[in-house]
Amino acid sequence: MYWDRRIETMERSALERLQLQRLRTTLRRVEKTVPFYQQKFKELGIASRDVRTLEDVRRLPFTTGADLRASYPKGLVAVPASRLLRLHTSSGTTGKPKALFFSRADVDNAAELMARCLTMAGVTANDILQNMMTYGLFTGALVMHYGAEKVGAMVIPAGPGNSEKQLLLMQDFRSTVLHITPSYALYFAAFLQSKGIDPRRDLAIRRAFVGAEPYTEETRRKIEKALGVQVFNSYGLSEMNGPGVAFECERQDGMHLWEDNFLMEIVDPVTGEPLPDGRKGELVLTTLRREAMPILRYRTRDITSILAKPCPCGRTHRRLSRITGRTDDMLIVRGVNIYPQQIEQVLMGIPQVGSNYLIQLEGLDEMTVKVELAEGSFDGKVERLVALQDEIAARLRAEILTKPRVELVPPGSLPVSEGKARRVVDHRKL
Ligand code: ADP
Ligand code: ZN
Repeated sequence: MYWDRRIETMERSALERLQLQRLRTTLRRVEKTVPFYQQKFKELGIASRDVRTLEDVRRLPFTTGADLRASYPKGLVAVPASRLLRLHTSSGTTGKPKALFFSRADVDNAAELMARCLTMAGVTANDILQNMMTYGLFTGALVMHYGAEKVGAMVIPAGPGNSEKQLLLMQDFRSTVLHITPSYALYFAAFLQSKGIDPRRDLAIRRAFVGAEPYTEETRRKIEKALGVQVFNSYGLSEMNGPGVAFECERQDGMHLWEDNFLMEIVDPVTGEPLPDGRKGELVLTTLRREAMPILRYRTRDITSILAKPCPCGRTHRRLSRITGRTDDMLIVRGVNIYPQQIEQVLMGIPQVGSNYLIQLEGLDEMTVKVELAEGSFDGKVERLVALQDEIAARLRAEILTKPRVELVPPGSLPVSEGKARRVVDHRKL
């Protein structure tokens, strides 16, 4: 099912013409109205008229998270203040937030893109979407909310946390779709199990839209099995509207990125040089339709690749492969580069492992992986626990090339955060 068949299946050549036209309009606007870009253009000795093909985008300056932080609280706004309709911020992990402004057209457009995603994943006006993301300054819940309403689905603005209440809502109103982070989905699945609830038998949930944090294919399968739902990967970031930037179709094989709205590039994270389709690197995005706050060549820090092969679903917008992490997620332990997702991939493939884990770095370079056991997987025999611990450590060693200490802990004993999961605690004295 398409939300907007014409756009979603547009021929590549027409789509690229549209991109170029929108890129040039965007450049003319920022050149006239945004001092930050005026300055950057001057430094590089370029003007909007120098961009004649899509490849010319490479001549434009990058925008980084630090640039957006430096512009806080005013933002890189391209419209008069009276045209601003909504403010969101992106928390990031440290330092000042980024102020992101939306005009009326931007709010509508974000909902439109979200509606495309939802329809692509089979949502209709008959659905009841329980929105278990954080409402507020974070874009995650609100943009989804508006998109689902646009499709005509009924939205339950539950927000995250309070699993007892979430369950009641699901039971009483027969929610069919969940919007949830992977960490909360795992936690919630364990909660249902502890309550003796079989979602296939007792609940009406059929689909879950899972994003806002990196997660692995193993985690997707685990959530699908435990919640009895089909999980669709959902990618977005506040700097580009929030959710609805890229989303899986029914094939669940890569996320279509809406190329009529965003120009995507993959670059080498170190040199900034463009990489060809299929190669893994940092995703860089340029907004093509944003009115209040256009952003050029935003360094997302997310690591992915472009799947250029046409998708059997008929959509011509190219797909992104699963985000494997952020350039700044990488840990260096005893000289070895490690991404937390490598650890998650190993853990979530082991049936006795529960819903949560934590990577702790201490002392000089000591790594401990705390792993929750699955409900009912400990039979009281300590030697089995030790054997499992050893097995997990050995499997981790094979993946990350260094052997961490593994500590098995009871189900539900590791901290869960209401927002995004914190997987790594680094207390090293290096
Ligand atoms: P913050 O910067 O405060 O975390 P955002 O909501 O803007 O707030 O976070 C966007 C980031 O979340 C993305 O840049 C990406 O790193 C991560 N993210 C969002 N969706 C996914 C997804 N489906 N898979 C992996 N990472 C994701
Ligand atoms: Zn598809």
